[in-house]
Amino acid sequence: MIATGLDGRVRGVTARAYTIPADAPEGDGTLAWNQTTLVLAEADGGDATGLGWTYAPPAAASVITGTLADAVTGLPAADVPAANAAMVRAVRNAGRPGIAGYALSAVDCALWDLKARLLGVPLATLLGSARDTVPVYGSGGFTPYDADRTRRQLAGWVHDQGIPRAKIKVGEEWGTREGRDLTRMRLARDVIGGDAELYVDANGGYTAKQAVRVASAAADLDVRWFEEPVTSDDLDGLALVRDRVPADVAAGEYGCDPAYFRRMAPVVDCLQADATRCGGVTGWLAAATLAAAHHRDISAHCAPTLHAPVGCAAPNTRHLEWFHDHVRVEGLLFDGVPDPGGGSVRPSEEPGFGVELRAGDAEPYRVR
Ligand SMILES: [Mg+2]
Repeated sequence: MIATGLDGRVRGVTARAYTIPADAPEGDGTLAWNQTTLVLAEADGGDATGLGWTYAPPAAASVITGTLADAVTGLPAADVPAANAAMVRAVRNAGRPGIAGYALSAVDCALWDLKARLLGVPLATLLGSARDTVPVYGSGGFTPYDADRTRRQLAGWVHDQGIPRAKIKVGEEWGTREGRDLTRMRLARDVIGGDAELYVDANGGYTAKQAVRVASAAADLDVRWFEEPVTSDDLDGLALVRDRVPADVAAGEYGCDPAYFRRMAPVVDCLQADATRCGGVTGWLAAATLAAAHHRDISAHCAPTLHAPVGCAAPNTRHLEWFHDHVRVEGLLFDGVPDPGGGSVRPSEEPGFGVELRAGDAEPYRVR
């Protein structure tokens, strides 16, 4: 018997945006930044409000209120796949990859949260779980950090929080600082010790053969994960690197639709997907299935609070990214964020994603 709350329809969707300054200058191989913007979608139905979000320019909020809200308002709150399909159709001319797809993802997450709240169950229960917890890896190690800050961050994850996996950024300045990349990789291995897994992410900063050379130069460091050694647009380059390095090659964080993941899955060892970009909960689970069809694991990119229950729902989830920026932002804006202590997160036992906006604390950061 379905709870009576689910008889309702989506009454409307609103959006807000918050920009939070970084706690230090941040950057990777191909981008630098000083702040992070979270665009929040709130979906109303029955006596509940569902929350979902994406990390995107504030313009994503305009796509939510100007296009997507109309597409889903009036649809049954129970039928999230129908709402997702309506949104995909609505952004045809806007172009789904990019801001429109990110906005769509936030609304999809808000609608899943709404449905779970109307049923009074955690999202992990609504989706059904393949596991109780999802392993996490610490992610940051930004290129502008000095050695001291890098040490403190890595030691915090591995030695204080017990997370046995840590990732740093490499490929600095479009791959022009290989020497510093290797020095920082050695520093990272030194800090985390021999038992933790060392991951690197070049954010597309290297060429394919350069990535192979860097991996060879770091052979003694036992790097297990080499993310975006070349740009994600270079599928042949990803395949070449995958063929020639012992680390698992990973990519997929920019994917917005199933066709993207179908192209990407064969050329990586582990597919990445981000529920705040790839179509929300609906799109992430589809990406996980596509990965499974290629005998690949899937790893959740960033937005750790949203990915905790979603990651539990897929049998082939390898881990989720405990990304420094998003951990800070989500902890600042929401009550109910997960705890990575011991190296994994457990989904909330509260309805939906289990988080509530701390509106008063968030207000000073509001930009829209
Ligand atoms: Mg990455």
